[in-house]
Amino acid sequence: MTAQILDGKALAKEIQAEIKAKTAEFTEKTGVTPTLAAVLVGEDPASQVYVRNKGRACERCGIGSIMHRLPDDTTQAELMKLVDELNNNPKVHGILVQLPLPKGLNDIEVLDAISPAKDVDAFHPENVGLIMQGRPRFLPCTPHGVQQMLHRCGIEASGKEVVIVGRSDIVGKPMAAMMMQRGSGMGPGMANATVTVCHSRTADLPEVTRRADILIAAIGVAKFITPEMVKPGAVVVDVGINRTDDGLCGDVDFEGVKEVAGAISPVPGGVGPLTISMLLDNTLTSARQSVEG
Ligand code: NDP
Repeated sequence: MTAQILDGKALAKEIQAEIKAKTAEFTEKTGVTPTLAAVLVGEDPASQVYVRNKGRACERCGIGSIMHRLPDDTTQAELMKLVDELNNNPKVHGILVQLPLPKGLNDIEVLDAISPAKDVDAFHPENVGLIMQGRPRFLPCTPHGVQQMLHRCGIEASGKEVVIVGRSDIVGKPMAAMMMQRGSGMGPGMANATVTVCHSRTADLPEVTRRADILIAAIGVAKFITPEMVKPGAVVVDVGINRTDDGLCGDVDFEGVKEVAGAISPVPGGVGPLTISMLLDNTLTSARQSVEG
């Protein structure tokens, strides 16, 4: 069996065209340009690429983007002051502080200082609580990207065994919280899953992953998920982005697993482009909320 490829690049194009149209209509009606402020501290090359890609995507969709590049030796107080200014700038609807921050800076303090109303990454504890309760202000970008991918490819999660490998605050935990709800913005089909979350202390991981109808890998270890860990016909979503000598690859052994899975997302060109799209969607949502009150 050769798996269906879940083409995140094509889906992102489709979603960004929709966002562009919705943004144009919103701006025409209100005179407000939804605007994202990105803060990049230091010279991390991967972070520079991510922030540049986010800026370009904003441009494509008619969303304003403001870039703050700060040097490596920025102090906590300077960063907190910038966040405060952005919180109080009515022209800014979304604030993104690119992680990781250079050593010596306290990322939790910075993220907690972002106004929940402008927290388009949905990392603030207030927004995390709302997600957990099934009444999100914003959906976290990567898990929402995964749901959009499944939904737009006609794959339902309701009643299915969803196994997530990885329990980070950015991917694993919110992904689990969203999949276990009674409903979703995409209808009940993209929720109501039976969810299992695995991590480095999970006993007999392959036994658990083989139970998955939908397996989501967010581990950060190149090609960690091998064909033996996948139930034949399962849907495999690869969130991982790993830099190797051979270029970018995911957490799934794509070549091997595609012979077993029913559907699989590639890396690059899978979840990554959708993550960016959902960030733009949240920025538009935030601008709407700022106008509607
Ligand atoms: P973290 O490092 O925060 O979390 C990794 C998780 O994987 C942890 O829960 C860890 O377990 C678990 N893990 C690590 N090794 C093993 C193992 N041997 N067996 C089982 N579980 C293991 O990573 P993130 O969630 O932030 O990111 C995961 C991957 O996704 C990375 O490659 C990252 O680059 C990528 N990513 C991609 C995005 C996209 O847009 N496509 C967005 C965000 C991230 P434990 O908790 O026990 O340590």
